Amino acid sequence: MYLPKIREIKEALTSFFSKPYTTRFPADGFKPEEEFRGFPRYHSNDCVGCGTCAQVCPAGAITVTDYLHNKIRTLQINYASCIHCGQCEEHCITEKGVILSTEYSFSTMDINDPNILEKVEKEILLCEVCGSIIAPMDQIKWIRQRLGAKAYAHPNFLLNIQREFFELEPSEAKSRIRREDQIKEVCPKCRHKIVVEDEFYAFNR
Ligand code: SF4
Ligand code: SF4
Repeated sequence: MYLPKIREIKEALTSFFSKPYTTRFPADGFKPEEEFRGFPRYHSNDCVGCGTCAQVCPAGAITVTDYLHNKIRTLQINYASCIHCGQCEEHCITEKGVILSTEYSFSTMDINDPNILEKVEKEILLCEVCGSIIAPMDQIKWIRQRLGAKAYAHPNFLLNIQREFFELEPSEAKSRIRREDQIKEVCPKCRHKIVVEDEFYAFNR
């Protein structure tokens, strides 16, 4: 007959009188560690709407939608697709626009349950000449702050600063690009056209 050794008896007695290593879930709940990778949450004050998180998301869980008619960009995380990898948080340009929370528990039978989606909305700036998107307003402000005084060298930033102090009406679209379009909030493509035409063609005729 096999007789337990002294060591095995000691281990059995120690385990019997020590605290369990597992939790009594769900009765006691579960307290995640601080580094636990739960649902990513947007922090609207720190997110500038750049869309980098959507570009790096390996699961394609983040969608960026631009609504030109009301100048709004929506960023949306679908928790049904999120794999909690943390890439969005790691690559966020402000480092705090999206943070993985310690929330981990969610279940639903409804695919349209609004709690499946995490959303943030940002105002976007449109080109005064062609109407295409330049960038979200918060991203422009964020870049401005990082550039400091150098921001005054660029007409887009200069106008953006002025608009904080004065009511500047947006200009009417013209039939063609003109020299005065230099002092407008325009996209890189239109600014390139303005500079090239001013330098080499239309305005010198
Ligand atoms: S945690 Fe990973 S999978 Fe989830 S939204 Fe962020 S990048 Fe995408
Ligand atoms: S600021 Fe961060 S959270 Fe916001 S869109 Fe850019 S990368 Fe995503």
